[in-house]
Amino acid sequence: MRLLYLDYCASAPIHPKVYEHYIKASKELYANPSSAHQLGFESNGIVEEAREDIASILEISPREVIFTSGATESNNLAIIGVARAARKSSTEKVHIITSVIEHSSVFNCCKYLEEEGFEITYVPVDMDGRVSVETIKNSIKSNTILVSIMHVNNETGTIQPIDEISKMIKGKGNIFFHVDGVQGFTKAAIDLSDIDLYTLSGHKIGAAKGVGVLIVKENIKLKPMIFGGGQEAGLRSGTTNVPGVISLAEAIKIGILEKNEKMEYIKKLNAFIVDGLKSIPGIVINSPGGEISSPHILNISSTEPGLNSAIILNLLSKKGIIASSQSACSSKSNKQSRILMEMTNDTLISSNSVRFSFNESVNREDAEYLLDSLEKIIIQVRKNGRFAVSI
Ligand code: PMP
Repeated sequence: MRLLYLDYCASAPIHPKVYEHYIKASKELYANPSSAHQLGFESNGIVEEAREDIASILEISPREVIFTSGATESNNLAIIGVARAARKSSTEKVHIITSVIEHSSVFNCCKYLEEEGFEITYVPVDMDGRVSVETIKNSIKSNTILVSIMHVNNETGTIQPIDEISKMIKGKGNIFFHVDGVQGFTKAAIDLSDIDLYTLSGHKIGAAKGVGVLIVKENIKLKPMIFGGGQEAGLRSGTTNVPGVISLAEAIKIGILEKNEKMEYIKKLNAFIVDGLKSIPGIVINSPGGEISSPHILNISSTEPGLNSAIILNLLSKKGIIASSQSACSSKSNKQSRILMEMTNDTLISSNSVRFSFNESVNREDAEYLLDSLEKIIIQVRKNGRFAVSI
């Protein structure tokens, strides 16, 4: 059976060129980079080279690149780390601003901090899934220490006004700005110069799984979450994932180099699919489209009451089409989408959503197959009920 993978936002395959580096490093650089012997020094040298390469591409200092196990850890370190450091130096209750549509690795961190006695403001979004810079500005108080807003939403592709927020915060004294850049990095333009903490993940951009980065600008105070041998400037103890780090540096080089051409292609692919969807009955498009949407993510819902996310995904997978509804980290909970509920306040739309996410290997023929399959599913369900859909 044909296999059409449309879940690149959940995880992407390792890039073939990156894979070569990854395998070579796994075979040859097995020594612990913290070990005080020749092979350890060699591993450490290569890790530091990777750090310098990443820093130079991102125009930051190598000291600002902290390797982690992935974006979940980076987000936890950024938010809990900054919160705890601020609590230590403040007698006031510490206040953090985030949004209602953050990934669970930010959202649940904030929920946890609330239990710990921190004050959290969750700013709402409009129907496109965008936060308002004005609302964030009006939420700032004398005890605000951190604003955490994602760049590109992982369910809808909505791009947040990161530049405007960072400029606004810059004029507000001692407030740090954290950006979860996972779904925007190598996809949408970002200026890191006024961002204090920035999260990225390896396996979303063609690196190996189990590696990520938290960029921590030099003046930022944060407490570690993991204690041990003091690696990563004391912020993240644990043996460095040498092949992972090398794969990440290579994936970033390739990702940045190919970004414009790749995204131009994906934009056209997205437009073709959106156009085709318009003629399929019972489908609404939830991604906002245009300049505020990253085209590698397309979120739709069925308006058929019985055709919820799990059923559509199942029917699609019987045709070899692999997609998801919410982020992989939340999808097993089998609830309606928290993000779409915040955007639309519509239970049907939020329960019946599907997210397709693309990379440059998805071609026009794949797009036609997707449209054709969706149309057949909807028509048959309308005619016979959902259980009568044939493969
Ligand atoms: N943030 C966003 C926006 C994401 O989409 C994801 C992955 N679903 C994460 C954080 C967590 O990434 P990781 O798998 O590297 O922990």
